[in-house]
Amino acid sequence: MLIREVAPGVWVSTSRTMQTNSIVLAGESEALLIDPAWHDDELDAIADFLRERELRVVGGFATHAHHDHLLWSDRFGAVPRWASEATARVAQAERPALLASLGEDASERTRSLLGCVAPTSSLTAGMLPPGVIAELIVHDAHAPGHTAVWLPRQRVLIAGDMLSDVELPLPFDPDDVPSYLRGLARLEPYAHQAAVLIPGHGSVDTDARARHEADRRYLLDVITRGMSGDARIASPGMAEEYARLQRLVREGPPRDELT
Ligand SMILES: [Zn+2]
Repeated sequence: MLIREVAPGVWVSTSRTMQTNSIVLAGESEALLIDPAWHDDELDAIADFLRERELRVVGGFATHAHHDHLLWSDRFGAVPRWASEATARVAQAERPALLASLGEDASERTRSLLGCVAPTSSLTAGMLPPGVIAELIVHDAHAPGHTAVWLPRQRVLIAGDMLSDVELPLPFDPDDVPSYLRGLARLEPYAHQAAVLIPGHGSVDTDARARHEADRRYLLDVITRGMSGDARIASPGMAEEYARLQRLVREGPPRDELT
């Protein structure tokens, strides 16, 4: 598996499943892992990369409490793993359902480490490799306590499951379109400044602003017109998600309350 540097000290590998992106924030000799995923061989490839570069893992961070963002490998070490308060709460409360979502193919090794995250509201210097600065942007789009990570030095936006070129905005479970729009509003200033965008699934991009506008446009089109011409509807599994949003908007509160 290819692990590529997309900005100074920011490495990304992409899983064969759902183009899930794993992020390594590297300092001189230490690293923080964000959403490492997915299969054993892919997690091993990240561990091999860390060993080759002599990077010691100081911690992990999960952007939200979905099974594909709560993974870990024993080879990364028994270090603290963090997430927003709501993410940590949901990860613990929903553990049986998250394990079920992971599927039966997942190894015992992966299952045992799923979702063991502690709550934090920020990543302070002691939690990060020396020299790395990372700010958390916590909101409730896509999942309660969903968190984007902003790297001000490199102007990198790690968006979690938003601003993707393959995945539509998914304002479900709990179904909450207004929260999603508020989450997008929180991200807007960062999307406008970003030099590099790393979505949870899909391609790394330099135009975060366009990705942000596409997400907003999709939601507003479905809310105001009941339909969208978004190209991502053709991505695997997304036609069902599009239909689900149409249904939600049709059967939900009046439009003016949605926006
Ligand atoms: Zn997700």
